[in-house]
Amino acid sequence: MDIIKKYKLWKHNNNKGFTLIELIVVLSVLGIIFAIAIPSYVSVLAHTNEKACVISRLQLEKMYELYLLNKDVEHSDYIFEQFFKEFEYDKICPLGSAITYYNNQVRCNYHDNKDNGDGEEEEVPFL
Ligand SMILES: [Zn+2]
Repeated sequence: MDIIKKYKLWKHNNNKGFTLIELIVVLSVLGIIFAIAIPSYVSVLAHTNEKACVISRLQLEKMYELYLLNKDVEHSDYIFEQFFKEFEYDKICPLGSAITYYNNQVRCNYHDNKDNGDGEEEEVPFL
């Protein structure tokens, strides 16, 4: 009870709100936090999209190879399109980029073109 009375007395005597310096300090701390967090978030999001695309393409590649074996046909662009329509694979790439099959690999127009520049090999995280 004594604490509540002291708080009410303090609040009654100290009702001016925040000073300008306090507001500037809080806003600058928030600015620093956002300046660090937002680029980091964007980079994590891009990395996650790329990994999801790689994994989806590898799965699609294996399924397409099985499809070719089951149908006992050779690859052609038309058969790949039929395969794509038959199984309704809409979201292979999270960014919605076009998917093609070239050199026994399923390729994403966005991520594969980006990867070719730095010469790194794609790594599969858990296969
Ligand atoms: Zn992609």
